[in-house]
Amino acid sequence: MPDKNIKHPLNAPGPYYVDTTCTMCRNCLEEAPMLLTVVDDETAVYFNRQPANDEETAAAQRALEVCPTLSIGNDG
Ligand code: SF4
Repeated sequence: MPDKNIKHPLNAPGPYYVDTTCTMCRNCLEEAPMLLTVVDDETAVYFNRQPANDEETAAAQRALEVCPTLSIGNDG
């Protein structure tokens, strides 16, 4: 399960985060490309900002649900 104690440090403050167990499968990027960014060396993904409306919240939730390693949380 996602662990807010090991959030990637670049996550924007707020409930949604990616933790450091991300394996870069890129599934989440298809669901919420407006919210998620790949770090320059392509070793991790983080939330560049939090959802700003219901549509973006739904996208963030879909990203959470498609993550095979359960690296995305919404309790940050
Ligand atoms: S879906 Fe999960 S493992 Fe895949 S890139 Fe996104 S956060 Fe990383």
